[in-house]
Amino acid sequence: MAARLGLTTVSSLGPRKALLPLPVRLRSLLSVPAPRYPSHRHFYTSLSSPISPLQLVKNLSQSQVAMSASGSDPSPIPTYEKELAAAKKAASLAARLCQSVQAEILQSDVQSKADKSPVTVADYGSQAIVSFVLDMELSSGPFSMVAEEDSEDLRKDSSKEILSRITDLVNDTLSTDPSFCNVILSEEGILSAIEKGTSEGGSSGRHWVLDPIDGTKGFLRGDQYAIALALLDEGKVVLGVLACPNLPLASIQHTTQNVGESGCLFSAIVGNGAWMQSLDEGSSPTKIQVTSTADPVDASFFESFEAAHSLHDLTSNIAKKLGVKAPPVRIDSQAKYGALARGDGAIYLRFPHKGYREKIWDHAAGYIVVTEAGGVVTDAAGNDLDFSKGRYLDLDTGIMATNKKLMPSLLVAVQESIKEQQQSASLL
Ligand code: AMP
Ligand code: MG
Repeated sequence: MAARLGLTTVSSLGPRKALLPLPVRLRSLLSVPAPRYPSHRHFYTSLSSPISPLQLVKNLSQSQVAMSASGSDPSPIPTYEKELAAAKKAASLAARLCQSVQAEILQSDVQSKADKSPVTVADYGSQAIVSFVLDMELSSGPFSMVAEEDSEDLRKDSSKEILSRITDLVNDTLSTDPSFCNVILSEEGILSAIEKGTSEGGSSGRHWVLDPIDGTKGFLRGDQYAIALALLDEGKVVLGVLACPNLPLASIQHTTQNVGESGCLFSAIVGNGAWMQSLDEGSSPTKIQVTSTADPVDASFFESFEAAHSLHDLTSNIAKKLGVKAPPVRIDSQAKYGALARGDGAIYLRFPHKGYREKIWDHAAGYIVVTEAGGVVTDAAGNDLDFSKGRYLDLDTGIMATNKKLMPSLLVAVQESIKEQQQSASLL
């Protein structure tokens, strides 16, 4: 099979000895031009030691399929564990890349803060890393990814400098991971990795869904953002990972200020609960649950920091109707879904301005983290979200999430508030 990232197979690259790249740092010391490989799947598979048929069966049975409990049903039930491990690795590395860019932005002077190119570099870099790592870590077969960025602008002559910055950033980040420390991606390899994200998704087969930086406005301000990655299988979200580099590990129930250590990695596989761990290497996940509160008076709610992304006056009316006492907690990105899933707050409300179409990458990962933590995520009419329709969610008005006890009264408050809003608009 031709390499997926655009690339060359080992056989066309020549003997192994000539291929091994010098470590990045050593190479820069020696000023030796680096061999640049646009793709590595074949390069690596060919170099690794052969796997015996027995080992292959063992690997398959342990990490890719589980048989039914009775043992008599021959149809394998996918466990998605291998996919989850790859997704966590991809999102964590992308988070590392984004953190280094955000640190640079925050240290820069006012004038260079006005330059939006760092966020562009981080956005593309994050998508290239996730695409490359998934491709490397998962077995061959069709690969489809629905992602926010495409490479059209990056292929223009005017983007040469930015492409070179992205390439350096991606290679520097990959060099921090022992499994990729010998990898050097070429500019063409970066473009090919980004181009993997142009899938239309849909109701059949498997599709990865990626927002390389969800909450770019928060990212620029130095606030919350997330790397959001999910897997659709036959139109359903079956796995999700949310890397939130600036979200405190401790609850943000009483403050949105950063207190204590930050950097959370949320994850969920369908039917296996929701989990959270530190983004630090070697951390272990702990199971998380949405709050069990049934009384809206005890509930607090999350919404977008940006008023342009959600109608704050409408959500304030909904909260008032419900009897919520606490002020809204406004944070950027799908970090809201993560915080809700671990019980920092009880409700998430999102009501975009008329005409806005929600994209699947803005909700897929958050949706499964919350539902696996025992929560419910619906549109304004109480319908489940449908991720099988392509790149957009086709939904009624807005999105809300809460626990199962609060959902019936939340739905009533939402519907009443929307009706009132429509009535007052018709009077104008
Ligand atoms: P949040 O930080 O929750 O407000 O969501 C951030 C996401 O909102 C971004 O990744 C965008 O995809 C999405 N977005 C951009 N413009 C709008 C808009 N006008 N209304 C709603 N969401 C938007
Ligand atoms: Mg987004």
